[in-house]
Amino acid sequence: MLDIHTHVFCWGENPREGFLSEETRRRWLTRLIVRATRLDRELGETRSDQIRNRLVRQLNESKLSRAVVLAQDAVYRDDGELDSKRTHFFVSNDYVLELADRHEKILAGCSINPMRRDALEELERCATAGSRLIKVHTAIQGVDPSLPGFEPFYRLAAELDVILMFHTGYEHSCRVISQEFTDPRRLVRPLDHGLRVIAAHCGTCTSLDPEDYYPGFVEMMHRYPNLYGDTSILATWPRWRALGRLELESGSLRSRLLHGSDYPFPPARGPYVRRAGLRPGGTRNPLDVDLAIKQAFQFGPDYETQGLAWFEPELLDEQEPVPVTATVGCGNMSMM
Ligand SMILES: [Zn+2]
Repeated sequence: MLDIHTHVFCWGENPREGFLSEETRRRWLTRLIVRATRLDRELGETRSDQIRNRLVRQLNESKLSRAVVLAQDAVYRDDGELDSKRTHFFVSNDYVLELADRHEKILAGCSINPMRRDALEELERCATAGSRLIKVHTAIQGVDPSLPGFEPFYRLAAELDVILMFHTGYEHSCRVISQEFTDPRRLVRPLDHGLRVIAAHCGTCTSLDPEDYYPGFVEMMHRYPNLYGDTSILATWPRWRALGRLELESGSLRSRLLHGSDYPFPPARGPYVRRAGLRPGGTRNPLDVDLAIKQAFQFGPDYETQGLAWFEPELLDEQEPVPVTATVGCGNMSMM
């Protein structure tokens, strides 16, 4: 079983490895997660050690066979240079690559902001180091995936056969640069390269958000067989309707849903009591609770294992080939 969307955070003791800005550390949501996940009780000399140890321990104790742990690239200016002032959440690629090296269940999900000057070099480096999936955070990193300047990045990603994951739907956990960039309809350009694209969170928004990008996600799923959606953060109160909505979609759409938790954001049990019972999975392990809640919905027989073959070479024979759609022209060759 695979969880394709989990996070590790760095508090900032060693900023080269990763950090949360002062503002992010003080946010109510960050403080709530630190409390709710009982981080103070975890072993570790520093806050970052506690966060990492908790992830490794709970993953090892869980039913999951693998989890993709995501890095988080910084914000970059239009000239391709690092914008440290506007970077509020950073986890280096080397940090997750090292975690993956040390722990069997962890798969590295590196993160690259395609606006950075050395985006192509970093993409090649991460792929060579074993990261089969690259995450782009549209809202926090300020990346509009539809920009023609990203053509070389998408072309190289397709050549290297990496999977691109984009954040879709309104973001609430950290300061954002633009919510508009999270509209799944903006994913046409990478999708046209025929590579596997994952719309994280299936374009869902909360009922308090001014827009709902979910219909756009559904529309894109029908247009592109190489588009997938992950269910991360969907078992929570602000998005409590999302799983029920997904269950009503066509078989073709549901067969391209990937299990993701968005760990360490804890799942809510309340909205799913009738489906999954009072103690989903009969466990307190948040990774397993989240999985049990989602297994209570009809997402198809391969839901839990979907995507595993992309990361496990011995399972590659069972993998379905990706249908390649039309490839667009070169566009603007220069990066931003
Ligand atoms: Zn996430």
